[in-house]
Amino acid sequence: MSAVAPITRSYDVEAVRAQFPILGRDAYGKPLAYLDNAASAQKPRAVIDRMTEVMTHSYANVHRGLHLLSNEATAAFEQARKTTAQFINAASTDEIVFTSGGTDAFNLVSYSLGVNALEEGDEILLSVMEHHSNIVPWHLLRERKGVVLKWLDISDDGEIDLGAYEAAFSARTKLVAISHMSNVLGALTPAKELSRIAHEHGARILFDGCQASVHGTIDVQEIDADFYVMTGHKLYGPSGIGVLYGKKSVLDTMAPYRGGGEMIEIVEQDHVTYNDPPHRFEAGTPAIIEAIGLGAALEWMMATGIDAIAEHETALARHAMEELRKLNFITLYGQAPGKAPIICFGVDGAHPHDVSAILDRSGVAVRAGHHCAQPLMKRLGVSATSRASFAAYNTHAEVEALIAGLHKTYEMLK
Ligand SMILES: *Cc1c(COP(=O)(O)O)cnc(C)c1O
Repeated sequence: MSAVAPITRSYDVEAVRAQFPILGRDAYGKPLAYLDNAASAQKPRAVIDRMTEVMTHSYANVHRGLHLLSNEATAAFEQARKTTAQFINAASTDEIVFTSGGTDAFNLVSYSLGVNALEEGDEILLSVMEHHSNIVPWHLLRERKGVVLKWLDISDDGEIDLGAYEAAFSARTKLVAISHMSNVLGALTPAKELSRIAHEHGARILFDGCQASVHGTIDVQEIDADFYVMTGHKLYGPSGIGVLYGKKSVLDTMAPYRGGGEMIEIVEQDHVTYNDPPHRFEAGTPAIIEAIGLGAALEWMMATGIDAIAEHETALARHAMEELRKLNFITLYGQAPGKAPIICFGVDGAHPHDVSAILDRSGVAVRAGHHCAQPLMKRLGVSATSRASFAAYNTHAEVEALIAGLHKTYEMLK
């Protein structure tokens, strides 16, 4: 094992692993090395138990009943909103909108800004390393309203040149929609500077925090985000739940997204008025159990220690990068200093799908494909890559299993 490996003295990874029941299973009779965390993370007992407890003890619809179970479910649901606000240091719980996922949050902002905040010819600035869910909703607005998408290039490692960024603004730039951390290259973008420059040009800024929120402490006030998006299933919580943080002063000006119960104030035959945020954006019965499960996941992360988790993951990624650099048949994509534990690579002469299938047979689960980032694949000059991504429960032995699996893969495919 390399010199950088065992630095996590105070972090007891075996104690963390013991909290994830799924890690007890095998894959084809071999130990499971789950390295597809950037696509979705596994769930700790705390989340599974909390969701089961709600369903077995306190389940009812929220906000509407004046009875015991409804009151308990509402209290638990609103507690999850408080926990989420605390997790990203929002100034108020009213700034936390629950959505059905990350994708739904981008669509909410796109739809709503299209109603009353963006005109034909207004510009939205995106980077070429965005996830499709932070691209396609803006394309919809381009098709519907004639807004203009402007694309910011990145370095090969996913870094943003602040001079080029500032130069991309015009008087028509109304919104920046940009990754806080690439799900492919792992690079963290300089959020505070990006915000400052956007605001100096009178534009709003939305961060795709679906990855950054998993690997470090987020402070939406410090980075001065107008919008910040997260998704539950990558944060050790359930799928079907996501978060749109919006500054109160911004959410207050925004038109509703979907219509239905809960988002209204008064409904008459010829007229309707809308509830205040966040409820204005939460039409219908929400994902009650999932929101409470997300709250439990964020509590679990804070109790385990967000920085301790990040330090452990960084050590794993450094170990993996060091070993991968020794292999002359591997191409690495994204080597920015301080990058996240998300590693994209290619095996010379092999298709990523074949690499992933062979690794799978050795019990190592990695992703292969375009990672919902086709403009970035084009920028990198590839059609697909393999991706290994680390979480709180991964081990240095799993890094070794990945490396051993890659040796085997190369022997089989070369
Ligand atoms: C996963 C992901 C999304 C989309 O989240 P969903 O949960 O699939 O809706 C958006 N951006 C990034 C960077 C992601 O990793």
